[in-house]
Amino acid sequence: MKYLRCLYCDATNPKNHEVCWRCALPLDYDRKKSIHKSLAFLFAAIIFYIPANLYPVLQTAKFSESHGSTILEGVLSMWQSGDYPVAIIIFIASIFIPMLKFIILFYLIISIMRCSAKRVREKIKLYFLIELTGPWSLIDVFVVLILVALIHFKNIAIIPGIGVTSFALMVVLTLLSANALDPRALGENCEE
Ligand SMILES: [Zn+2]
Repeated sequence: MKYLRCLYCDATNPKNHEVCWRCALPLDYDRKKSIHKSLAFLFAAIIFYIPANLYPVLQTAKFSESHGSTILEGVLSMWQSGDYPVAIIIFIASIFIPMLKFIILFYLIISIMRCSAKRVREKIKLYFLIELTGPWSLIDVFVVLILVALIHFKNIAIIPGIGVTSFALMVVLTLLSANALDPRALGENCEE
């Protein structure tokens, strides 16, 4: 007999139950559906990661001239002007962390697909790390916009570029991917 943990109240239920014996909420557990949804969102997030880095995060307009800078250009210009901590923080938050999250999600999805029940504790920690830090990733976008505006472009109109929209979409899609993944599947050893 296999058991499922209720995500709402933590009660242990036999796997053939449709609703939790304690809180009566649906146990709705579909391993394959969870994997497919999570993978689809993850691929979409990776696709948006590309324009998020290739297109300007902000456009500055002065008279008729318009100039845009990408995240990496922003990091480089801050580094060159001596704002090392800001450059490092933005690089880590905008370029390094999203990529790390993709790798972690891939690792979790693949380990569920392979029915690997090894190091479940570590995997669950990784999972909750992604879930908890997800919404905070968006703050980074605003930090970039505000800092760049304050430091370099006084009295110039600043318009968010395609990069910032793509970045926001990437963050949301990464969140959806983590959300679609059922953490219970991480501890499941599917060999009956
Ligand atoms: Zn319950």
